[in-house]
Amino acid sequence: MTSDTEKRIMAMLHSQTNGLNKGDPISPPIVTTAKYLLPGEPDTPYVYGRDINPTVVATENALNAIEDAKTIAFPTGMAAITAGIMATCKPGDRIVVPSDGYFVTRALLDEALTGLGLTVDLLKTTDFETADLSAYNVVWLETPSNPGLDLCDIAAVAAKLKGTETKLVVDNTTLTPLLQRPLDLGADMVVASDTKAMAGHSDVLFGHIATRDDALFAKAVRWRKLCGSVAGPWEAFLVHRGLMTLELRLERMCSNARTLYHRLAAQIGASKLQLIKYPNIGFVMGLTFENSQIADHFIEDCPAIFASTSFGGIHTSAERRARWGDDVPGGYVRLSVGCEPQDALVEAIEATLKSL
Ligand SMILES: *Cc1c(COP(=O)(O)O)cnc(C)c1O
Repeated sequence: MTSDTEKRIMAMLHSQTNGLNKGDPISPPIVTTAKYLLPGEPDTPYVYGRDINPTVVATENALNAIEDAKTIAFPTGMAAITAGIMATCKPGDRIVVPSDGYFVTRALLDEALTGLGLTVDLLKTTDFETADLSAYNVVWLETPSNPGLDLCDIAAVAAKLKGTETKLVVDNTTLTPLLQRPLDLGADMVVASDTKAMAGHSDVLFGHIATRDDALFAKAVRWRKLCGSVAGPWEAFLVHRGLMTLELRLERMCSNARTLYHRLAAQIGASKLQLIKYPNIGFVMGLTFENSQIADHFIEDCPAIFASTSFGGIHTSAERRARWGDDVPGGYVRLSVGCEPQDALVEAIEATLKSL
């Protein structure tokens, strides 16, 4: 029987082509317009470019299908995160966010929003399950955490919050809606950076919110209109194009990551690699080397690894996260496994590890 995941993928792949008329283009037209013909009463959604754009709508339709929820597109993941905070929080509220999650989310709260009356607390990703969360209006999770790859049981946290007014928001960037389903596990809202695996080609910034809560959806849509944080049609087109191969890319990336994990795990002790962290799902892993110099050598010497920040692209890439001040060891490397042919990739990385 067709799985729920396959049904969502099919719906995403056909979201643009369903309902086409003879002669219509199969890919979403890139519509660049600020204005729409609008005589008389504004009784159409197409009133102005800050409200709506047909190419962005095509991408949102694909996102709706893969999330199985209403989605709202944003120009970056951080724009989606800001909208998620604005839709769920008001002055006087308390929010708890992971101390080991994406650092820009913490910086945004700390530098811009605590001064506007929000109280922000930090909690380690692994502590959310046991902590008393009853004081919070919003609980914000990121699992696996970025960059440390610690895990938190979303369903267990959702169960604790059931029956309360507290909103549970999950940053699902690292695993995407194909590998983790926060809304099905009880979250009220998903925020995501589609700059990573969703678009997948490292050539565009994008983000989205997904929710089944109509009031939260309406607030986030309103926020986007008021602050003008709108995605452009060119970017939306690239994300749409990337989404069409999301499943294929993830299949290769995850298979490469699993194989690489087992092969590298066998080298611990026999090489300069001290530790590997791989949450048994996804394509991101953490490698800990003895020190930062060896870690830099690993990244720069390996012809199969592209040295860069970010993750989720076609190319295997890596960086030392301590260079950004993240609370990880100096020799900790976040490796994002790409779509390269498996034997060539694994052999190149193994050879570099042995040469260190
Ligand atoms: C990259 C990232 C973001 C921010 O996304 P941008 O598209 O760069 O704005 C947010 N959360 C996580 C977990 C990320 O990895």
